[in-house]
Amino acid sequence: MKPSPRRGPGTAPSPDLAEALRALDTGMDATIAALCRLARVPSVSARPVPDPAVRESAELTAAFMREAGLADAHLLEMPGAHPYVLGNRIEDPALPTLLLYAHHDVQPEGDPARWTSPPFQPTRRGDRIYGRGIVDDKAGVFVHLAAIAAWIRAAGRLPVNVRFIVEGEEEIGSEHLAAFLRRHRAQLEADAIVLTDTANLTAGLPSLTTRLRGLVKVQVEVRGYEHALHSGFWGGPVPDPVMGMCRMLASLVRDDGRVAVPGCASGASRATRAERDALAALPFNERALRRDAGAVSGLRLHARGARHCEA
Ligand SMILES: [Zn+2]
Repeated sequence: MKPSPRRGPGTAPSPDLAEALRALDTGMDATIAALCRLARVPSVSARPVPDPAVRESAELTAAFMREAGLADAHLLEMPGAHPYVLGNRIEDPALPTLLLYAHHDVQPEGDPARWTSPPFQPTRRGDRIYGRGIVDDKAGVFVHLAAIAAWIRAAGRLPVNVRFIVEGEEEIGSEHLAAFLRRHRAQLEADAIVLTDTANLTAGLPSLTTRLRGLVKVQVEVRGYEHALHSGFWGGPVPDPVMGMCRMLASLVRDDGRVAVPGCASGASRATRAERDALAALPFNERALRRDAGAVSGLRLHARGARHCEA
């Protein structure tokens, strides 16, 4: 990260913003058409590298970036990885620079018989468009691109500099991302990063996710005996390694769902009072949360109310 620039877009509402929002509305049909065009490409990254569909999706993403105003958009390749796409627009080196992120690869479509409409034929039903990868994360690509295009149409320029990276292997664990970031570090330098691989809290409530839970992966092997034992003969006196493993796993969280591993949260920044208040002010509907989670009737949630969900 470089030091914060002295000069920026300022805190006063920009008159250009209203124009940009108007341009966004005007261009919405074209944005949705472009999203559907990209969603027709079956860019399933679980397929072996190289895959023609994932490459086509990367090339199409680069073309849409150029169309939006990122003139230099191009593919970036890492050996063994599906292609990444990078586009830049540096308006003025004195302005802050945003690093934008999205991914153009998608999860496999699964059993086609379970789809109401074909996974790679985006189909509108009601106020939603259904298709594999629409939400995760091709709409994310177009949230950024539509905003960029609208600003350029309205004001002739962006209020900040942008570098936009679109990954091609997010759905298979971003195996090459760390090496990619190291290799292209200079091209990705920015003051802040904005990802769209997240979600709005609810329709009509634009949301910026500032924190997510992390993930730790470990492999644990529990061994008790040199060979298999007959449960009828041995089940009483000797402890069962599987039960031992169950106890270990159960000890990782408290009954209320909080992580019980000592030191796990040490070094993590605590939410400020203002952040907690802002969170508590968000609309929260337990019934909707249960519905969206697919919770079976009678299931007891770990936390109740928005304030506790953050703990
Ligand atoms: Zn995603």
